[in-house]
Amino acid sequence: MKKISIIIPAYNEEEALPMLYERLNKLMNEVTNYEFEVLFVNDGSKDKTIQIIKDLRKQDERICYVDFSRNFGKEIAMIAGLDYAKGDCVIFMDADLQDPPELIPELIKYWEEGYDDVYARRSSRKGETWLKKFTSKMYYRVLQSLTRVPIQKDTGDFRLLDRRCVNALKKLRESQRCSKSMFSWIGYNKKEVLYERDPRIAGSTKWNYRKLIDLAIDGITSFTTSPLRISTYLSIPTFFALLIYFIYVVVKCMLTSTFVQAYQAIILLILFFSGVQILLFGIIGEYLGRIFNETKNRPLYFVNEYNGEKETNED
Ligand code: UDP
Ligand code: MG
Repeated sequence: MKKISIIIPAYNEEEALPMLYERLNKLMNEVTNYEFEVLFVNDGSKDKTIQIIKDLRKQDERICYVDFSRNFGKEIAMIAGLDYAKGDCVIFMDADLQDPPELIPELIKYWEEGYDDVYARRSSRKGETWLKKFTSKMYYRVLQSLTRVPIQKDTGDFRLLDRRCVNALKKLRESQRCSKSMFSWIGYNKKEVLYERDPRIAGSTKWNYRKLIDLAIDGITSFTTSPLRISTYLSIPTFFALLIYFIYVVVKCMLTSTFVQAYQAIILLILFFSGVQILLFGIIGEYLGRIFNETKNRPLYFVNEYNGEKETNED
């Protein structure tokens, strides 16, 4: 029997968990031809989240958990989920039931048809402000314009991934992660499923605009070093301005048969040297970007315990 791992990052979700379990349990009992594993990644919650998960595990063997040593953020919780999941495929879900578990059979159906990455695309986003919708739309647009890898719009992390996608993602171990772009980057056969995104059932969103901006910047900078190229591009108009002004000064001096005046020489020098400086910054930036891309190899997270066993960090 094939095994399916449902990975759920949870950070301060004590209110949502009972209802989440109820709906997952119903689903797992209905879909009988698969073995299920629900893998919670407790991301350093400060409330009773881990207690509730442990209690659930006592009554239901299908519940597993990874307990982080502190809060590492959802992106890291997701890669930890991939590391610990045992299934032939995994499904990412939020703990707040914004991703309806009832969609899972449909995801599985397409997986059985041979798709490797079945992702759920929101056809609506209830309970979110227009500002959030607008900013996320603009963000997708900017990200897409910076890269050649196609980015899926209106897609969260709710998706099913085949084992080979999981193994591919496990090889991408950079610390500033943007899963969304990684899902696109690894490729494989993708299939879109539409769904209605519900408002979160309990608790409050863990995002604030600062976190979202951080995520957006991580997304851009981990995906492309093109922002570093800005200085290279800025130096081009500076050199053009230099060239045009230089010609203007020379021609004017010849026509009026005067000498180059001090202020003209100063403007020329400023244009020349600022052009050189911006260009040098750009070159340094390019190399810095390369180094930055190569040096991300810290462990991504530390685990406190896995299914009740303390993690010792020995190899
Ligand atoms: N989450 C997490 N670590 C964090 C923040 C969030 O594991 O530092 C989890 C959270 O418990 C939830 C999911 O990520 O399961 C999505 O978070 P949230 O619902 O707050 O985000 P939104 O749906 O508003 O984008
Ligand atoms: Mg949510």
